[in-house]
Amino acid sequence: MKCRILMLHKDTNQGKVARLEALHVEYVAYVRICMQYMLDQRAYSLPRAEKQAFFPPATNLTSQTEKNARDHAIAIVSTWAKGIYQRKIKPTITHLRREGVITDDDAKALYIIGSKLISKPWKFITQEHLDAYHALLTEYGGNPPVVKDSLPMRLSKMTARLEDPGETVTADFWLRVSSLESRQSIWLPLVGNPYIQQADHVSKGIQARKTKTGRWRFEAVEKSTWEAPEPPEDAHRLGVDVGLNVLAATSDGVLYGEHVKPKFDKLYQRIKRLRANRQRQGLKQNSPRLDRLESRLSGLIKTETGRVANTLVRKHPDTLFVVEDLDLRGCRGQKRFAYRALQTNLERKAPTLKVNPAYTSQECPSCGYVSRQNRSGIKFVCKCCGRRAHADWVGASGILRRSGDKDVGRGDHPRDVKRVLRERYLLCRDSSSGFGRGRLSSSSPSPLGSRLTTRGSGSAPGTGTASNSMPTGSSGRF
Ligand SMILES: [Zn+2]
Repeated sequence: MKCRILMLHKDTNQGKVARLEALHVEYVAYVRICMQYMLDQRAYSLPRAEKQAFFPPATNLTSQTEKNARDHAIAIVSTWAKGIYQRKIKPTITHLRREGVITDDDAKALYIIGSKLISKPWKFITQEHLDAYHALLTEYGGNPPVVKDSLPMRLSKMTARLEDPGETVTADFWLRVSSLESRQSIWLPLVGNPYIQQADHVSKGIQARKTKTGRWRFEAVEKSTWEAPEPPEDAHRLGVDVGLNVLAATSDGVLYGEHVKPKFDKLYQRIKRLRANRQRQGLKQNSPRLDRLESRLSGLIKTETGRVANTLVRKHPDTLFVVEDLDLRGCRGQKRFAYRALQTNLERKAPTLKVNPAYTSQECPSCGYVSRQNRSGIKFVCKCCGRRAHADWVGASGILRRSGDKDVGRGDHPRDVKRVLRERYLLCRDSSSGFGRGRLSSSSPSPLGSRLTTRGSGSAPGTGTASNSMPTGSSGRF
């Protein structure tokens, strides 16, 4: 699914804009009413069947818009409640259980209330449990969720329709939105997006948002998604890793986005400092400046990772891209951030295979020796065999090797992975007359061993020579 942006034409009739804004004001007011109602009733989620009867009716909205606002309120409250449970209540319950304040059974009931957002007695969950959970929430939960006046308005298929412009020359589309008056639509001229060619390419609803500059923008979700093609049986495999000083490094030794990474890091550090500062001062809300920097950073990541993904897919047709299974990784701040963006981008356009990432960046590609010390900045120097390589390439090649590794499962615990690697390394070393070098490839053939040595420039990495450098000729070009 892809989000596409359409803007309200700047010459839109002011009467129409006023009607849209009046609708938005009512919408936000009703979302607030519904949220408050849920919080008062201690209902943090609502089953589909109960939605109709639960909320007070909206006085000014048509029934479809009313429904959208209710769903929106439910989404906000349940997201908040889940977050509070994960961050604050769950650890508190665990603590109380360890201290012996509550029994294991009570703790179990409280865990379930929080994780499933239960609001009525159910199975072994009693009203006392619910009251106890509510008391925890009041004491440790912090502030209830608040929505700003700028809350985007959700328009479902029933309340908004994108129509082709027909004879109109100024607008690319018409958006027909149900207004506050029943059966009277507002026709809004929108200026297009080159990616949307026809109105019926868009579905699943549209979000209307008033930007900080006061312009209305409409975020549409595109119907046709990129179907990633199936890889051929014996597809080439290419390991992709997000590097330390590049956006992506591939196992064939090419670095992508070298010039972007410093810019990205600088911005990231600035945001981090600013955020820490505000936290120290006890300021909860972002300043406009922080908002601006954050949206600039996410914009930068989106464009650049999109560019890298496009280049990769174009350069490597019929290739299976091997990437880290991110769910197995602890949080690693900015790397994870960029990685997620690159990975979603890649997944949309090409077949990908996820592998266990544990120790891929610390394992020597020649002798298999695993150590944190092998790595220092962008340099990789094996403490055992002396193999030198660019650290970013080591990560990418490690990921590629993992894809052919029968001993390491995708869900294996890092501890177990380390044990496997250690045993394998010792086996190689003991059976080798030399000092480990080059033996790993015979015991666990790299799925692309030949390609690593035959592709690219003469000094291709992965050949197992004692010193290796990245080929520089083709690096970092988009
Ligand atoms: Zn080594």
